[in-house]
Amino acid sequence: MNLKGKRAIVTGGTRGIGKAIVLDFAARGCDVVFTYQSSAEAAKSVEAESGKFGVKILGIQADASKLAEAEKTITFALENIGGLDILVNNAGITKDNLLLRMSEDDFDKVISANLKSVYNYTKAAFKPMMAQRSGKIINIASVVAIIGNPGQANYVASKAGVIGFTKSTAKEFASRNITVNAVAPGYISTDMTEKLNDKQREAILTMIPLKRIGTPEDIAKVVSFLASSEADYITGQVIPVDGGMAM
Ligand code: NAP
Repeated sequence: MNLKGKRAIVTGGTRGIGKAIVLDFAARGCDVVFTYQSSAEAAKSVEAESGKFGVKILGIQADASKLAEAEKTITFALENIGGLDILVNNAGITKDNLLLRMSEDDFDKVISANLKSVYNYTKAAFKPMMAQRSGKIINIASVVAIIGNPGQANYVASKAGVIGFTKSTAKEFASRNITVNAVAPGYISTDMTEKLNDKQREAILTMIPLKRIGTPEDIAKVVSFLASSEADYITGQVIPVDGGMAM
């Protein structure tokens, strides 16, 4: 899974799964621009890893839910890493609550950060990818988009939307040699899942046949595969990486 000389954008690269993807890409020889919402300090420490790999790793503050900021990121990447071969739509948030208690604002914010963001970046990335007649787009969905989850109607709806968006754009872009796939992580150990209490964590473990919580690196390896030429004939697919949770 060689990515030598490739150029990538990863949204939400300061922590968790996004950071693991940035570092896995860099380790395979890929220059990376990553975005973040507010963690400027964390962004600096991810950028500092570039020396280890001899590639560029550049962070940029950009709210993924805003189209103009996605366009700004694409321009930044074209100017600073010289092109765009790979886009990973990873940025995401949760605002969990039972539907009865879920505010309109929490519904809208999750849809904007998780689904509208994928529209924003895909739309902005399409032009340069179309011009070079190649590209790999990988969207981070979730296993709960397939199996549902009480208390996460906003999040699950956003991720199910990401899956539908992935399949439609895969069909639209196929003639331009641009593939679009989704990875559906199960329960992965990151800041996002830190919010769960011990009882919730125990309950989730009983649903995982491989009997362990996933790591960000478990996801990053599959994303690198989909971003590489090894996956040239795969498009419109949703790959669960979930220890068997959704089978
Ligand atoms: P995380 O640790 O909470 O990190 C989220 C990242 O997204 C951070 O870099 C954050 O930036 C960035 N971000 C959030 N909102 C943003 C916005 N509006 N604009 C730009 N950047 C934004 O999350 P994670 O657990 O690694 O999750 C990464 C992705 O995997 C998400 O799409 C999530 O839904 C999905 N996923 C996670 C799990 C899991 O178990 N962890 C399972 C299934 C799917 P700041 O640091 O600046 O806040």
